[in-house]
Amino acid sequence: MKYAIFGDIHGNLEAFQAVLGHAAQQGCTDYVCVGDIVGYGANPRECLDIVRQMGCPVVKGNHDEEAVLETSLEGLNPLARQAMEWTRAQLDADDRAFLKSLKLVRQVRDFTIVHATLDTPGSWTYVTNKFDAMASFSYQFTQLCFYGHTHTPRIYVKGDTVEPIEATSVKLEMGRKYFINTGSAGQPRDGDWRASYATYDAPSQEVVIHRIDYDIQTAQDKIIDAGLPEMLAHRLSLGK
Ligand code: ZN
Repeated sequence: MKYAIFGDIHGNLEAFQAVLGHAAQQGCTDYVCVGDIVGYGANPRECLDIVRQMGCPVVKGNHDEEAVLETSLEGLNPLARQAMEWTRAQLDADDRAFLKSLKLVRQVRDFTIVHATLDTPGSWTYVTNKFDAMASFSYQFTQLCFYGHTHTPRIYVKGDTVEPIEATSVKLEMGRKYFINTGSAGQPRDGDWRASYATYDAPSQEVVIHRIDYDIQTAQDKIIDAGLPEMLAHRLSLGK
C-alpha cells in the first residue's frame, strides 16, 4: 500500500493535478489530504470536487474553516480578506457542508493526520521549530504523523531528542516517531515554486517528499482573471 499525502492545495488546480499525476506514476494506491483545500487560488470548487470524488481521508485546515464561517473578516490583512471573501462567494451549500464536516485530527491506518499541530489542532498555531514539534509529539500516539499549515516541507524525528533532519526522505525506524510536513501543493513558501507532497510506502516504511513542476502560468492567469489580488499570482513564482 502506497499513500500520497498532500495539503495546502489552496485552490490551485494545476498544481493539484500535477501532484495527482505524479502520485499515480509513483504507484500510489491511496490518497490523504492534510487540509486547506481552498483559499488564495482560483479553483476552490474544482479542487474540492476532486477531493470528494476520491473519497480520501481529509482533515480541516484553517482556510477550510474560515471559508464556511459567516463571521466578519475585519481581523484579516487586506490581501487575505479579499481572497477569502472571493472564496466564500464561490462555494455552494454542498461545498460548505463538506468543509464543515471535516475533523481536525484523524487516524489513517497506522498514521495520524492533522493540519496544524496535535497539541492545539483548532488554534492553528505553527510548528516552526523543534520546540513546537516537541509539544505536538506529546500528543502523537502513532509512530508517524503528517501535517501542513506552514507550507514548508520538514521532517522532525523524535528519538532521545527532537530534531528536524535535512533530508527529503526517511526510512522509519523502530523506537522513533516522525512528524512530517508534506509541504504545500498549491502555494509553497520555502522559496521553491514547485508543488510539494509526500508519499508513504507502507511495506518499506519509507516516506519521500517530492517536488513537482506544474503549469504555474495558467494558475497565475486564472488568479488575475478572477480578480483576485495580483500578489497571490506573483507569490507562486517566488515560492513565498
Ligand atoms: Zn495553508
